[in-house]
Amino acid sequence: MVGTRRARRRKNVTSSRAARCAILDPVPPVAKVEPITTARALRGPFDYLRPDGVGIGSVLVVPFGHRDVVGVVVGLADSSDLPDDRLVAPRRVLGHDLPPDLVELAGWIADEYCSTPARALALVSPPPGGRAKLIWWATATERSAETDPSGRAPTERQRALLAGLPRPAGSDLPALRRLEARGLVTLCQRATRRHVQHETVGARRAQPALTADQARVLADVEIAIEEQEPQPVLLHGVTGSGKTEIYLRAAATTLQQGRGVIILVPEIALTPQIVSRFVDRFGDTVAVLHSKLSAGERHDEWARLRSGAARVCVGPRSAVFAPIERLGLIVLDEEHDSSYKHEGDPRYDARHVALRRARQAGALLVAGSATPRPESVHGLRRLRLPARVDGRPLPPVQIVDMREQPGALAPATSHALVDAPKAIVLLNRRGWSNFVDCRSCGHAWTCPQCDVSLVLHRAHERLACHHCGHHERVPQRCSECGSMSVARHGAGTERLEHDLAQIGHEVFRLDADVRDPGVLLRRFEQAPGGILLGTQMVAKGHDFPDVTLGVVVDADSTLRFPDFRAEERTFALVAQLAGRAGRGPGGGRVLVQTMAPDAASIAAAARHDADGFLAGELARRAALRYPPFSHLIRIVCAAPEGPAVGEAARAIRAALGEIPGAIVLGPAPLFRLRGRERAQLVIKGTQRARAVRAAGAAVAEVAGDRTRRGVAFSVDVDPQ
Ligand code: ADP
Ligand code: ZN
Ligand code: ZN
Repeated sequence: MVGTRRARRRKNVTSSRAARCAILDPVPPVAKVEPITTARALRGPFDYLRPDGVGIGSVLVVPFGHRDVVGVVVGLADSSDLPDDRLVAPRRVLGHDLPPDLVELAGWIADEYCSTPARALALVSPPPGGRAKLIWWATATERSAETDPSGRAPTERQRALLAGLPRPAGSDLPALRRLEARGLVTLCQRATRRHVQHETVGARRAQPALTADQARVLADVEIAIEEQEPQPVLLHGVTGSGKTEIYLRAAATTLQQGRGVIILVPEIALTPQIVSRFVDRFGDTVAVLHSKLSAGERHDEWARLRSGAARVCVGPRSAVFAPIERLGLIVLDEEHDSSYKHEGDPRYDARHVALRRARQAGALLVAGSATPRPESVHGLRRLRLPARVDGRPLPPVQIVDMREQPGALAPATSHALVDAPKAIVLLNRRGWSNFVDCRSCGHAWTCPQCDVSLVLHRAHERLACHHCGHHERVPQRCSECGSMSVARHGAGTERLEHDLAQIGHEVFRLDADVRDPGVLLRRFEQAPGGILLGTQMVAKGHDFPDVTLGVVVDADSTLRFPDFRAEERTFALVAQLAGRAGRGPGGGRVLVQTMAPDAASIAAAARHDADGFLAGELARRAALRYPPFSHLIRIVCAAPEGPAVGEAARAIRAALGEIPGAIVLGPAPLFRLRGRERAQLVIKGTQRARAVRAAGAAVAEVAGDRTRRGVAFSVDVDPQ
């Protein structure tokens, strides 16, 4: 990995230099500054005179062309290629600096994902928009009320106020101001911490005694934590095998050694249980970073981590950039979850970044899952938790063949739902019907911006595009032929919610249309009975012991995607849903409705046969040279006009030329999205760095051509 080697070299240079500086000469006089701008064409870093106290990670305001911009110091140098008169000083040094190791990580990300240093640095910068919250703080002075030269005796109320100091002024500020005027009190502003409320789902639990399996795995993990350069591990444990308890104990060990911890989770809103378990166990040393926090709260949590007041960070993928010094452990919970991939530039994968950061810090990475990715099984040392903590078997899974069945639910499924007090039902499609057309002329309602069908949402009485957000009123008649006969096809969660309500149970619907998933999950947990119905969101790591039935409706919906990960996704979805059922003394079972009962992924999930599935999947990928046996890089060209897109894509193909160890697939057209025609090329290569560099160079060359101004290019390394 070229990036790794280069970064290491960079690190040696700075550290040996720093050591030398401390003893002999002054710190290098030149600061290399990367301006934080969105311009892609900039080739930084740029040299400036280094003010005293400025080092890697310092944030400066520098003169740049005709304006001033904010920049980050990414390196120091003894000399500059610039002539002396062009080497100027920054205007100002800003108060908040970035940790040097994160600046280095950003440099690696910019290279690894064909992005820019500025965009990568934004990832490791403090959250934007937040500042410290200031309050007035009151302290009593030396002077006593009795010796107050004014001779006025304090009132009863003033005495009480003085006796209660020091404390925040709060609503007593006016009264305290009067005492301040008499020299009895000093008032000053202090930064205070906003109190972040955490969702609590799941009962508070005492620390349990470990099972024999857990103890064995933990011992192994604890040895690895002690190592200088620990090998990353994959904790492959069936659902309910107590992986979280391993994370908690490993975190405690790491903290005892004076080192910090990052716990990455898929989505906080969907996995509040793990957050509350960490807060319960470690209290205030836990900082939680996620998108639901206000800008101010995020600022405070970030600042607590930066100052060392908090030593554990729990958060979604962006928490991999938490400013924790002396990092000792990174946990990747549910490592198979696709939310670890970021879909904006830089298109980083937090799992890949976590590996890099762990190696950089000498920290242990523990990736955990019941359905690990073939990549992780292939590349990481695997530790197993083969059974559930309580020794209960995984629930039996029955495949329900839907090929001859009309309707969304087979009779067997309906009967099972009637009998089960608490159930989870998965249908990976939201809305009412996924397709609407005219019975008379066949006209189908599609999105004007994208080449996809509009989905009917009955609650809002509209047709909506799930790709661009376009929506329109539900048609009363056909816009083409005027017919009143509009047909609705397929069933989504909204429709199924309606059908399930007929059974007589309360239905809790969880999908992207639900505003507050945490509240809904808590209501379901507390309800004596009911059905939790939803998209893949219901298959996340929830732990509801009284759920005795799991149902997958249309298990092959994920199989129909033309993607090499279709099998992997389907297996994970069915196995994860199965893992939600039968976690309590009531036991449980699972029904999987499918039109493809013989599909390998579905059959393996029904047998709880992760090893069989993974072996087959890895063999298939090796034969087809898919990851982990190659690296994929996707280049997408998009523009309002089709011909421009086709030309740009062909130009990229030509610019790529021959890449050693790689083949290029495409250009191939993609469906129109948000009003833009698209085409893609996929590089499939065995030498990652080489393929990434070739993609970056080809895009830079073609995008640099002024005649292609209207075309947007994106490079996606390791697309999901
Ligand atoms: P996983 O993440 O592997 O699906 P969890 O960590 O959620 O499993 O554990 C499942 C349940 O078992 C949780 O309620 C947890 O508190 C409990 N648990 C974990 N370890 C033990 C143990 N050693 N003894 C008893 N209960 C345990
Ligand atoms: Zn019509
Ligand atoms: Zn659309």
